[in-house]
Amino acid sequence: MCEFCLKHGEGSKWYLKAENYSEDLLSDVRRRRMIEDFFTASEDIRKQVGRLEQLQEAPRFVKGIARRLVTRRMKRDHYGQVVPIEDVERIFEFVNSIVRVACICRHVTLGAEKRYCYGVSLGPNGGRMARILSGLDTSFLNGPEAGGLESLGKEEALAAFRDHEREGLCHTVWTFRTPFIGGLCNCDRSDCLAMRATVTHGIAVMFRAEYVAAVDPEKCNGCRQCMRVCQFGAIAYSAANRIAAIDPRRCFGCGICRSVCTGDAIRLKDRRAVPAAAGLW
Ligand code: SF4
Ligand code: SF4
Repeated sequence: MCEFCLKHGEGSKWYLKAENYSEDLLSDVRRRRMIEDFFTASEDIRKQVGRLEQLQEAPRFVKGIARRLVTRRMKRDHYGQVVPIEDVERIFEFVNSIVRVACICRHVTLGAEKRYCYGVSLGPNGGRMARILSGLDTSFLNGPEAGGLESLGKEEALAAFRDHEREGLCHTVWTFRTPFIGGLCNCDRSDCLAMRATVTHGIAVMFRAEYVAAVDPEKCNGCRQCMRVCQFGAIAYSAANRIAAIDPRRCFGCGICRSVCTGDAIRLKDRRAVPAAAGLW
């Protein structure tokens, strides 16, 4: 269990606790303001990208201090966790509103509007999160796909997530002033700032999943499709044995490799049951 499961999930998966999506948490004015600012803050995010790149040139001890400070602040304000598709499905079972918006990260890094972010709500009349998002001025985004919100039914949203998975994107869940959870996203290492910070620069702003993947050597046919999609460099291929193997210390448990496996050879295991990965977040 990650730190948030212990603090905000009473020892179960924190992102499957309906309380963490509740309207009660949204009655906090500072939280509502933070959400509004977040979705209109493309300039701030652009500056953060610059700082992230500059930090790579800094002395080691400066990097260490900066990493700890950023992680602490993000855990308070906006922290994420990788979630496999089956847990996305479980979240969609209890939220009562799902709205799709253009991803602010992709707006900054690609200059393109990619509708990979989903606001989720739990409350009467579609929930307050949906109302906050619909009230935002999104004119900072450009392009025909950018404006407004798109409401999706649960099946429709799940189908969209399966499409994102086929694109090789990693599903993540996000707090807006922890422990309130207001959204899910579909990330990749080249365009998503959270993945770049966590994986490329070693500044943790999201947890690994509560799972780790493993290959069944009896079923693996050596096609290597899994290696093509893993964004975390967790899969190696043995030419001698003609099978793939997953390093549990590198695996983030996203399950994307499983969805392309031609031998049905990959399973996700509970992270706690894998000693090499149990304490790695
Ligand atoms: S090995 Fe599979 S589950 Fe693990 S990080 Fe790579 S793609 Fe995700
Ligand atoms: S995709 Fe599946 S069958 Fe192909 S190498 Fe990876 S684990 Fe083996």
